[in-house]
Amino acid sequence: MENIMNERLKGKIVAITGGAKGNGFATAIRVGKEGASVFIGDIDENGLSKALNKLNKLGITASGTILDVSNISTASEFISAVVKKFGRLDVFINNAGASKPSTFPEVTEEMWDWTMDLNLKGAFFLMQEAAKIMIAQKSGSIINLASIAAVGGLTSSPPYAAAKAGLVNFTVVAAAYLAKYGIRVNAVAPGIVNTDFHDVLDKAVGQDKLGLKKGELMQNAAKAKVPLQRMAEPEDVASIVAFLASSDAAYITSEVIMVTGGQKTV
Ligand code: NAD
Repeated sequence: MENIMNERLKGKIVAITGGAKGNGFATAIRVGKEGASVFIGDIDENGLSKALNKLNKLGITASGTILDVSNISTASEFISAVVKKFGRLDVFINNAGASKPSTFPEVTEEMWDWTMDLNLKGAFFLMQEAAKIMIAQKSGSIINLASIAAVGGLTSSPPYAAAKAGLVNFTVVAAAYLAKYGIRVNAVAPGIVNTDFHDVLDKAVGQDKLGLKKGELMQNAAKAKVPLQRMAEPEDVASIVAFLASSDAAYITSEVIMVTGGQKTV
């Protein structure tokens, strides 16, 4: 990442789910470098503590807690922990997400529920809790990590595609309701990002089925399908999330920004 240090988000409190690595961690660094204090919730305890150490070493004020976004009974605890630590909540980033590869006939009820609980249900109830704080403050910005899968007909995980489409829809619904309180709600929809997100598919299909080297499956997909001919780096996503979090995006709400290198379908 280029050496960004500005004060666009000075004094802002930013909460990020799934911020221990990938897009969430890059976002934590980016908003931290722009002056925000960061609170991370992640299911990976070890990853969380490593991420917080790295952020603190960069001079970023960062704290966090273990969080399983699928367990909606902990949503209010998580948002309360942010407010207890920092006194307010300016930006909430619904970033945690994952998918299990499966073709249309292979989808089981268990896989459906796991995918929906993580990518859609958890995200909704966390957003609802974050909004309660923001309504009282009469300000805030919520950013949901959607995906090109929401619009592109992803065949490698039908429930994930459905969950991300739902996330896009409730971005619009929440934006319509929350606008009168000065709260903006937007989504960022990445294409293929160079994160561990693809590890399971890479192993099952790339390495075991096609005999490719680690990482090659998505690199090849990007070369074939992305007009910019490369995967996104997590920093490409983080910069757009930081923009939406900031007052530079003060008149943007209810939008989905595609960060796909020009890719239109999966
Ligand atoms: P990643 O696997 O690198 O990171 C995901 C993070 O979420 C990890 O830190 C993980 O521990 C955490 N997490 C997983 N399950 C969780 C749970 N139940 N509760 C709390 N935390 C949990 O993946 P990523 O690529 O950084 O994905 C971040 C977001 O970006 C996701 O919503 C994903 O759907 C979206 N996205 C990714 C891509 C891509 O190509 N990588 C493309 C489009 C959208």
